[in-house]
Amino acid sequence: MDRNGVTEGELEGRGMNKCVEQVSHLALDIGGSLIKMVYFCGENSGSEHQQGILSSKESCGLSNGNTNCSVLRGKLHFRKFETSKINECLEFMSSKQFHRNGEDCHGASVSEKNIIKATGGGAFKFADLFKEKLGMTLDKVDEMNSLVAGANFLLKAASLEAYTYMDGQKEYVQIDQNDLYPYLLVNIGSGVSMIKVDGDGKFERVSGTSVGGGTFWGLGKLLTKCKSFDELLGLSYSGNNRVIDMLVGDIYGGMDYSKIGLSSTAIASSFGKAVSEDKDLEEYKPEDVARSLLRMISNNIGQIAYLNALRFGLKRIFFGGFFIRGHAYTMDTISVGVNFWSNGEAKAMFLRHEGFLGALGAFMSHRKDGFADLKAHHLVEQVPTKPSRNAGGCLNNSSVLKDVNENISIECTMQLSN
Ligand code: ADP
Repeated sequence: MDRNGVTEGELEGRGMNKCVEQVSHLALDIGGSLIKMVYFCGENSGSEHQQGILSSKESCGLSNGNTNCSVLRGKLHFRKFETSKINECLEFMSSKQFHRNGEDCHGASVSEKNIIKATGGGAFKFADLFKEKLGMTLDKVDEMNSLVAGANFLLKAASLEAYTYMDGQKEYVQIDQNDLYPYLLVNIGSGVSMIKVDGDGKFERVSGTSVGGGTFWGLGKLLTKCKSFDELLGLSYSGNNRVIDMLVGDIYGGMDYSKIGLSSTAIASSFGKAVSEDKDLEEYKPEDVARSLLRMISNNIGQIAYLNALRFGLKRIFFGGFFIRGHAYTMDTISVGVNFWSNGEAKAMFLRHEGFLGALGAFMSHRKDGFADLKAHHLVEQVPTKPSRNAGGCLNNSSVLKDVNENISIECTMQLSN
């Protein structure tokens, strides 16, 4: 949905969104668990070689007055693939003919067409595979640089990107571009990186933890026998962590430990009840195990993030990475943790394109050798599918886990230096 509440389907119905795909720029973030892809698709304005290209005059009105430029109008699209199924990514790229479309739109040379920006460890690990299967060279871009560039772009250029989430309430945050820095960026991927960001290209990785999204998925898989991440996340919706976690009330006979500010429902020890109960793993419901695990990891990350914010006097913490998946329970746990430990001083904020920061940053690095500027105009949300329920009335996993950020493309103009 765009800012005016218009879905892409409605736009299409009004004939306002006749985007015949003409993919030009593309970037990848090949991580330990997932491959994230961002690509720009120019609108087809009709003339054969000028798809989506506005006239120089028009373009220069939109940009910085440089007359030696043209502007492409189109959308940034987002896709993800599991790294273990990299062939699906290669097939997708091949089907979209990314390797052929290349950078046709603005007359790049044939050799440039076969180079794509890529970040993440997989840009090194799979370089030969991309060369062999698609004839493409991966132009490697630094991972931390990309994360920060992606976050800065979204926070400055895209409206309705950042939001807070607490007690089931989502609230969008208007970011003042002149008052963005410094902030703490917490990227929760397979592992977790915490980066203090002071400006464009000005940052320091101040902390991190190996207990992250990979831990949740890996341990969860072993403990619940889930076959997919979505299944595990889906289970956590209906679980109850009090079955396995040892609460303050379990120790204090149902009472709060008010002297030090701990309520009876606070978790004293994650999974602690399993010690005193004479039960095997099979006797616990996978839902409860998934819930305790999600809570343990989210709590821990929220707390380390808060401590780092405190360490550097940062009031705003933005959380990104695909672990979050716009999952209400994860965000709630992180927000409550940050709010509790900071006495309401620091704020946890989330990003709609949470998982695509690195890929977006790699995309922005085209700036150095192709386009001069990228301006975001609208977020365009694909028509959401209606959540379905199973016979017991519970939301089906696939419904509750719609890929929020993958479904939101960004309308933008790209200024190309000729
Ligand atoms: P990385 O770059 O390390 O792959 P991501 O930001 O892509 O980091 O996040 C990876 C994490 O996202 C996984 O460890 C897992 O917790 C979570 N995740 C979300 N969706 C999926 C999925 N479909 N398959 C696997 N992991 C997923």
